[in-house]
Amino acid sequence: MIEVDYLVVGAGAMGMAFTDVILTETDATVALVERRGRPGGHWNDAYPHVRLHQPSAFYGVNSRELGSGKKDAVGFNAGLYELASGTEVVSYFDHVLHQDFLPSGRVQYFPMSEYLGDGSFRSIASGAVTEVSAAKIVDATYMNVTVPSVRPPQYPVAPDVRCVPPNDLSKAGVLPAERYVVVGGGKTAMDACLWMLGQGIDPESISWIRPRDSWCLNRRNIQPGEEFADNSLEGFVSQIEIAAAAESIDDLFTKLEAAGLLLRIDQSVRPTMYRCATVTDSELEALRAITNVVRLGRVERIDAEQIVLADGAVPTGPEVLHIDCTADGLERRPVVPVFSGENITLQTVRTCQQVFSAAFIAHVEASYDDEAEKNQLATVVPHPNTDIDWLRVTLANGINSAIWREDQALGAWLRDARLDAFSELRAMSGGMDADRVALLRRATEAAMPAAVNLQRLIEEAS
Ligand SMILES: Cc1cc2nc3c(=O)[nH]c(=O)nc-3n(C[C@H](O)[C@H](O)[C@H](O)COP(=O)(O)OP(=O)(O)OC[C@H]3O[C@@H](n4cnc5c(N)ncnc54)[C@H](O)[C@@H]3O)c2cc1C
Repeated sequence: MIEVDYLVVGAGAMGMAFTDVILTETDATVALVERRGRPGGHWNDAYPHVRLHQPSAFYGVNSRELGSGKKDAVGFNAGLYELASGTEVVSYFDHVLHQDFLPSGRVQYFPMSEYLGDGSFRSIASGAVTEVSAAKIVDATYMNVTVPSVRPPQYPVAPDVRCVPPNDLSKAGVLPAERYVVVGGGKTAMDACLWMLGQGIDPESISWIRPRDSWCLNRRNIQPGEEFADNSLEGFVSQIEIAAAAESIDDLFTKLEAAGLLLRIDQSVRPTMYRCATVTDSELEALRAITNVVRLGRVERIDAEQIVLADGAVPTGPEVLHIDCTADGLERRPVVPVFSGENITLQTVRTCQQVFSAAFIAHVEASYDDEAEKNQLATVVPHPNTDIDWLRVTLANGINSAIWREDQALGAWLRDARLDAFSELRAMSGGMDADRVALLRRATEAAMPAAVNLQRLIEEAS
């Protein structure tokens, strides 16, 4: 039996970001229980070429920088701030654990331990069960991130068909193949295609099964530092003004694209998916070289000689390497209250900003007493899936920000929060020049019309 203030289940990015703020802002003790052998969650199972999709500057835990704060000089991200590799993310969390958490004397870490759901966990190595007496139980597993390497494809694959997760592409003996079929329309598939193109694989030899096309975020608009501040501010303001003025959903997306806020691979296809995939112009340009795109819905099965999809079939064969990129890294989970008695369930309070959200929830836990107030501050913004979800999450983000703005102390915390991509914009407000003040005024004026218009468009769409 051990006794702690917080039992945190899951040492993935969210569990780590939550624990970090609890250690910084309270005197509480924590038991961190993790099924895997080390912290970092799904990053431990990621494909070797994975990198963050958004700058390292906003990732990890609040109290420790990730990366060197430099811009990339080469590659698809050249000119923009660095994106940590998967290995770097895992080693960063290892440092956080061993250099910050454990030396604090307030964290007990239990790797290789399966939480049993009743305040106890079992060691996977020894089978020993430990009871935990904790004032609060924090579920940092609820978002249920899945990556392709941890499960077989979710469609039947005939025995002799070669179908691998992207992790296997760089394993000995896998490449080359005569032809390639990439399955999936999300960011993992984009990463696999970019990696293959980067290895000199002929784009003509790649078929890309994209059940849905995706709206993507422009990474240029999500950058830290003064150099990008005007660009970020202008992007922020034009998004609000476009949302306020759009006459229809089509009009909205046309204007968001024209303003460089949303991007798509194929300009002749109107995307129906939005899942926060973040890209650069040069990545899109490279991806456009793959012209053999199959839009026949989801794969139902792969037979020896054909791939059967929801709306048709395409030929395949033993010479083809299929790359399964269909795992759901951004599952849409039912929303539950973040704070409920002794339970805290970590979810996103700003779209696709998991680590920021976990840190924010920990700050709310540390600073407020009333459960209703805490839940109001930590209103969940569920993961988006469809294009219409772009409207829903933008509206929900806007409402949360408006509620947070009412609270001066919270505003001060946000200004200092490394994980908050907007913190630098907020911090600027002390010394802003007249142009920036004018831009912010425009944003304030358009905020309410934007909320009303987005609500109207959402209702029309549903
Ligand atoms: C390829 C990829 C790139 C991404 N890039 C970015 C990015 O650039 N920026 C960004 O903000 N977000 C990004 N994300 C989103 C990302 O999912 C989150 O940032 C974050 O890593 C998710 O962490 P998590 O803690 O919610 O989940 P996980 O990483 O899944 O962690 C949950 C942990 O809980 C453990 N666990 C589960 N059940 C139990 C149990 N019963 N007992 C004990 N332990 C248990 C698991 O072993 C795991 O370690 C990316 C996601 C993917 C898939």
